[in-house]
Amino acid sequence: MGSIQALRGTRDILPDEIRYWQQIESVARDILGKSAYQEIRTPVFEQTTLFERGIGEATDVVGKEMYTFKDRGDRSITLRPEGTAGVVRAFIEHNLAAQGAVQRLWYGGPMFRYERPQAGRQRQFHQIGVEVLGSPSPRADAEVIAIATDILQTLGLKNLNLNLNSIGDPDDRQRYRDALIAYLTPYKSDLDADSQDRLTRNPLRILDSKDERTQDILKQAPSILDHLGSDSQARFEQVKHLLASLGIAYTLNSRLVRGLDYYTHTVFEVQSSDLGAQATVCAGGRYDGLVAELGGATTPAVGWAIGLERLVILLQQLQTLPTSAIDFYLISKGDQAEAQALGLAQTLRQSGFTVEMDLSGSAFKKQFGRADRSGAAGCFILGDAEAASQTVKLKWLASGEETAIAQTDLPSQIDDLRQQINAFRTHR
Ligand code: ATP
Ligand code: MG
Repeated sequence: MGSIQALRGTRDILPDEIRYWQQIESVARDILGKSAYQEIRTPVFEQTTLFERGIGEATDVVGKEMYTFKDRGDRSITLRPEGTAGVVRAFIEHNLAAQGAVQRLWYGGPMFRYERPQAGRQRQFHQIGVEVLGSPSPRADAEVIAIATDILQTLGLKNLNLNLNSIGDPDDRQRYRDALIAYLTPYKSDLDADSQDRLTRNPLRILDSKDERTQDILKQAPSILDHLGSDSQARFEQVKHLLASLGIAYTLNSRLVRGLDYYTHTVFEVQSSDLGAQATVCAGGRYDGLVAELGGATTPAVGWAIGLERLVILLQQLQTLPTSAIDFYLISKGDQAEAQALGLAQTLRQSGFTVEMDLSGSAFKKQFGRADRSGAAGCFILGDAEAASQTVKLKWLASGEETAIAQTDLPSQIDDLRQQINAFRTHR
């Protein structure tokens, strides 16, 4: 029988890659914490209706990409394809609005979409996202964009481009929708099949068609920016002004419409030119209609989601991170020595050192070989002689220098050991 493999579109994140994930997570956590965003964790599966209502039935995500199944109680369940719907459900369910005028929330975790897997596109993928609920201010739009920019820049990413657009309010959009349908209908038979299908169901989505012929036809299409009412226009001017005053460069892209139905006004995407086809690393916008759509009081909101797989690809192109930094490798042989070594490892760990213990019980020579390969700064050695005299040998692996230490003296030597470790790290 063949061995079992991870499902198509899913992958294991192995230890040599995990540092990149941890780096992204720690940078994001730090910046979000300083921006007074609070973490929220919602379930990975929800009632299917939540996404149908929250994302919109005419979208690709709901129409084609959801992992939906019946559970044993015959309920229709869906693995979350994105984070916003669940956060908004929780916001309404727990009446978080009562806790303050503005809720600033962030989340992270796996999302699931049945898509064609390729570089930077998986069926289980990971996002970190923010949602600001309760503020209609253009400053909230600018704040979330600034935070995304800050996270990406702190990670050292280059060649990023912020695309910005406004899709107005539902009235603006209805007017634009009519204008777009009127423009495209004469070309209907020249559009790609998906776009023909979208012409009546979801015409704005035609703007993101990758088909060349369709894109050609779109060159002369009306622009949403010419269909914004004066309030929407003024609002968008403010967002642009705030971004400019923050020194955040952007490209106006009137073709940018997001895949999910709930967006209003500001929409944006950050793209990297170092990624090939799957170039978008962060996407978001304002969604003033969603909370009411899901049964809450009308609440203006804005947010984004960053796709972590794509950031990991970019970080790996930029830098190599060490997979581990072991301070001490501990080798021992003989019953008494091996037992004492366990205690010694605990003492060292409690003092803040990273300690790997050899469990093989093999000849010292072999254990030494592994100590050398471990990249540790020092090696503690416990054999029968050390066990009997309650001492331990310490060998600094770079210099070969060796000392014997009484086990009871170890706690008093911690500061000295730490200094030597630091010296080792800075000279490497
Ligand atoms: P795309 O156009 O790449 O399909 P999207 O518009 O469907 O993206 P969003 O729903 O806005 O994406 O999700 C935000 C981000 O999450 C994307 O910009 C991307 O970085 C990431 N993302 C979305 N789908 C996937 C996936 N299947 N695999 C990996 N990352 C993904
Ligand atoms: Mg998609």
